[in-house]
Amino acid sequence: MLRESIYKRYNPVVTPNYKNNSPAYWFIFNSDKLLINRGKDNKIPFIKDLKDLNISPIRTHYLGTLEGHPCKCTEVSETNALEGMAFIDLRSLYKMLDEDLFLLAGRAIQIVNWDKNHQFCGKCGSLTKIMENQIAKICPECGFISHTRLSPAVITAIIKNGKILMAKHSYGLKNRYGLIAGFIEAGETLEEGIKREVMEEVGLKVNNIKYFGSQPWPFPNSLMIGFTANYESGEINVDGKEIIEAKWFNVDELTPMPSKISIASELIDWYIENFSAE
Ligand SMILES: [Zn+2]
Repeated sequence: MLRESIYKRYNPVVTPNYKNNSPAYWFIFNSDKLLINRGKDNKIPFIKDLKDLNISPIRTHYLGTLEGHPCKCTEVSETNALEGMAFIDLRSLYKMLDEDLFLLAGRAIQIVNWDKNHQFCGKCGSLTKIMENQIAKICPECGFISHTRLSPAVITAIIKNGKILMAKHSYGLKNRYGLIAGFIEAGETLEEGIKREVMEEVGLKVNNIKYFGSQPWPFPNSLMIGFTANYESGEINVDGKEIIEAKWFNVDELTPMPSKISIASELIDWYIENFSAE
């Protein structure tokens, strides 16, 4: 099942409590790589002072607290880590990190990259400033505010007579079938986005669209929103560009998902649970 909310342990406050002297979790990025203390397990540096690591932060952000400990993120230009530490690609750290720390690293990398890419106002070109009480940047000249960039995307498990639609994408792993997914366009609802994507990619109409769950997807800045839907009409007709093949699978024909990292695997698990023969 979908994980329980991290907000049970994590308090996403924006303003630091300077009286909190406990060690902090430091999410330190060089490009898309996160600094990891290899030690016994792969761990996020948990220290009082960044100076201990002998690196110079470029821009630092406060992320709130995890079980009372401050969480901070920063970007550095160093690529050589101290002995016993290494910069590692975030995606490959899934399963190597505690789930809460992996989720916070996903939040951290998006804030670091957004800050880096919004140094100047998109409207008038002036240097922007971080706002104090929300995660946003403001232009002191024209007042234009930019929030962290998020691109919502929908992913849908489509069911027809107890079978699920799986498709081979032109990108990604060859011979691997996945669910229909795509980005939401400006001006459409999530349900409209699903209907458009399914029609564009496989030529089918769907109905009975139901919300399943959502998942932050920081590669680089998506929010994946999962749905289930029923087939309504049409014959499979792939677009040949994004989708090269699509077909209906029953439970026995499915191969296990390679990773539990994505909401796609949760949707497949939901299908198997609900449509296995008794
Ligand atoms: Zn401006």
